[in-house]
Amino acid sequence: MARLGLLIDVTKCSGCHNCFLACRDEYYDNDYSPYSAPQPLEGQFWMQIKEIERGTYPKPKLDYIPLPCLHCEDAPCIDVAADNAVYRRPDGFVIIDPVKAKDQKAIVNACPYRVVFWNKELQIPQKCTMCAHRLDEGEKQPRCVEACPTGALAFGDLDDPASEISQLMAQKKIEAYHPEYGTKPTVMYVGIPKRFVVGEVVRDDMRGECAEGASITLEGGGVKLETMSDSYGDFEFEGLEKNTAYSVKVQLAGYAPQMLEITTHTDVNLGEIVLERV
Ligand code: SF4
Ligand code: SF4
Repeated sequence: MARLGLLIDVTKCSGCHNCFLACRDEYYDNDYSPYSAPQPLEGQFWMQIKEIERGTYPKPKLDYIPLPCLHCEDAPCIDVAADNAVYRRPDGFVIIDPVKAKDQKAIVNACPYRVVFWNKELQIPQKCTMCAHRLDEGEKQPRCVEACPTGALAFGDLDDPASEISQLMAQKKIEAYHPEYGTKPTVMYVGIPKRFVVGEVVRDDMRGECAEGASITLEGGGVKLETMSDSYGDFEFEGLEKNTAYSVKVQLAGYAPQMLEITTHTDVNLGEIVLERV
């Protein structure tokens, strides 16, 4: 049987919540036993949209991370469940049996991603099923993937090198969400927000005019990146490692170069970097 996977491109997510709404529409008050019992009106977010605020005014960023169950290969929810109440299908989907899981609240607490929700009325844990009932009926995609207007969600056969998801995984830098949890998720990500460094280059003899075309080099953590300041004098380095020391060198013909040392404990705004005429 094919291994099926989901790839989430955070750089394409606009935070529109269409995936969340489609999931709610599919599962609220609908019984898909033995895949899932009806979802209650409140308190369940099988597809969450995590808002990540980064940086500071005047150069903040807002990112959105769609977060369903990650259908882990080493799933703590399976380990903690009694009577095989949570199981892994040959296609990779991790399913909570709504009958066997009754009264097993430990399944909620076992998930390090906090994507399992307790149904108080039915006394069962519930979560994303990867729309297994739809796919088993012959549908090609989960509801959330169908509903995404920006193409941030790609679903398909991981064993078929020609599938869209396999092609994307071959082209892009793929990463796990919180790899330190050690659960080997099968839902993978592109573009999980990291650290960024921004600044604005200004010439001391031409204040009020932006210094376009300055060469900026960032070096550290085993990488060397280069960029140019834009027509506003602004520059940016994105996707940097956390808690890493970097040197930033700013150069412009006719001006003394500047070297700045930073560590990415947080995102860094270098502010105005004033170059002096030589
Ligand atoms: S994300 Fe949580 S609920 Fe989903 S398989 Fe992994 S441990 Fe289980
Ligand atoms: S795959 Fe299906 S169950 Fe999972 S988040 Fe998407 S719509 Fe909801």
